[in-house]
Amino acid sequence: MQYKKVNIDFSGKHIIILAPHTDDGELGCGATIHKAIAQGAEITYVAFSTVEESVPDGFPKNQLELELKKATASLGIKEENLIVFKYTVRKLNYVRQEILEELIRIRNERKIDMVFMPVLDDIHQDHSTIAAEGLRAFKNSSILGYELMWNNIEFRTNAFISVTEEDVQAKIAALHCYESQRSRPYMSPEFIRSLATVRGVQCGKPFAEAFEIIRWIIS
Ligand SMILES: [Zn+2]
Repeated sequence: MQYKKVNIDFSGKHIIILAPHTDDGELGCGATIHKAIAQGAEITYVAFSTVEESVPDGFPKNQLELELKKATASLGIKEENLIVFKYTVRKLNYVRQEILEELIRIRNERKIDMVFMPVLDDIHQDHSTIAAEGLRAFKNSSILGYELMWNNIEFRTNAFISVTEEDVQAKIAALHCYESQRSRPYMSPEFIRSLATVRGVQCGKPFAEAFEIIRWIIS
């Protein structure tokens, strides 16, 4: 018996990316964003903290917001679809109800088909807060949790999105916009490409991004 891979076409879909901090969305699913836009998807990207308290010395306080704008534009996300909140880094749980209400407002304004966010047991306190509130707000949508392996102890690779060399290059280029974060090991092009190769090997494709299914609704 031959099994066929399910083919999902992103054209006409409205996808929302929930990024606790600037750069999480590109790290978790940058290649998928590039692929989805090429297929005609609409992408809304929501960042909850611009991490002003942790900007490295020598950079202005709004450095990460500037980098986020460049990175999301390089992936093809429209300026009007970039929503930036300035909650304090590491304290998103202090304002979780406010965040939930903002997410519900966004959900009611935009007809969202699919959500990408961190997994529920990501060990970064801001990531798990956004995952919990994201699930509350979008419980009636399909939700995939993206991989940030330096914060994942358990990550079930039960979904894959195959991507092309071009999509991987676009992810690397988007992350290159984060000039203030270049010393982080997970920002290196070698790491990004290697992980895409590993995830591709797992699903029989040249490159892929792995996801954990949080909700999957077939209509
Ligand atoms: Zn983060």
